[in-house]
Amino acid sequence: METRHFGKTGLTPSILGFGMMRLKRKADGTIDEQWAIDTLRYAIDHGLTYVDTAYVYEGSERVTGLCLQDGYREKVTLATKLPVVNMTCPQDFDRMLDEQLERLQTDHIDLYLLHAMNRARWENVEKYNVLESAERAKAQGKIKHIGFSFHDNLDFFRTVLDAYDKWDFCQIQLNYMDVNYQAGIEGLKEAHRRGLAVVIMEPLRGGKLAAVPEKVAAMLPGNPVECALDFLWDMPEVNVVLSGMGETSQVEQNLAFAARAHAGMLTEQQRETMIKAGNVMRSCISIPCTGCNYCNVCPKNIAISEIFALQNLRQLNGDARAARATYATLGDRIASRCISCNTCTQSCPQNIDIPTELQKLAKIYG
Ligand code: SF4
Ligand code: SF4
Repeated sequence: METRHFGKTGLTPSILGFGMMRLKRKADGTIDEQWAIDTLRYAIDHGLTYVDTAYVYEGSERVTGLCLQDGYREKVTLATKLPVVNMTCPQDFDRMLDEQLERLQTDHIDLYLLHAMNRARWENVEKYNVLESAERAKAQGKIKHIGFSFHDNLDFFRTVLDAYDKWDFCQIQLNYMDVNYQAGIEGLKEAHRRGLAVVIMEPLRGGKLAAVPEKVAAMLPGNPVECALDFLWDMPEVNVVLSGMGETSQVEQNLAFAARAHAGMLTEQQRETMIKAGNVMRSCISIPCTGCNYCNVCPKNIAISEIFALQNLRQLNGDARAARATYATLGDRIASRCISCNTCTQSCPQNIDIPTELQKLAKIYG
């Protein structure tokens, strides 16, 4: 598998990274540890050397620590993220970082990201002197490189780049549907120009680009998943593409796609066609939810991502009956119980106005 120089860090991780957010879970909701251990090690044995987790991915850091025992820690570049949104004082930085090192069973984190930067979270970065704490942790050897993941618009992306001249890398959402969304391709090129390595998340838009409608599939030059990944690997400014793999077959497939990928692999015409397919896809989706479940903070326990998923599926396949049948299985976790408290909206990386969307859906589904 191809490796690329990771900005000025001296690291050369593989172009495919394992996103540990969507690991396979058992019926009781906990991560299937044995599956995770076997699968991540299989991927590493087949050339994958980048592993990405976060403090807020439930159970993920602890399981990642287990997976990386028996000599696997030394084989990978390990990335995890600070939940800046949860900070209430400057001391939270050291408390959470020490907790992460313990969960991950390591004495250092290679790549430490400020998680999901947007305007509101950046206020916490400034208020709690997060970058000073990060530099101190770097001097102590607890973290090796400082970066951020990002969910806001291109102007604010530039503001964050300008705010600190020692960023080593960043992580942005990008796929052939989102070329002009959030940081977008312009943000990718700008970060690269400034010497940052760039990691890509949501290459399949929360799985939506893996199961495209027929009219989109007909426009693509090949397998939808391979096309989506190749669109990113084709660009030399992209260092790592993260895939949140929760099935063994996905891991095998993605490893095979990565093994034949390289920069400059697509023609200009293929790229243009895929961007056109992305525009068609965008018109087929009414709510830009990726199913990340960061909004799982609802006091009414409303099934937000499930409701958005069934509505998007209905828009794609026109099957209102199936959507109503799925909705009926949600019990009291339905849209009409939303009290518009806005607890969830702060958490949504896609900036969806969740209560407004739920109000619309409550009218449709009752
Ligand atoms: S706004 Fe509605 S969906 Fe969001 S947290 Fe409040 S009750 Fe739950
Ligand atoms: S509504 Fe937003 S936070 Fe919730 S699952 Fe969708 S994208 Fe994630």
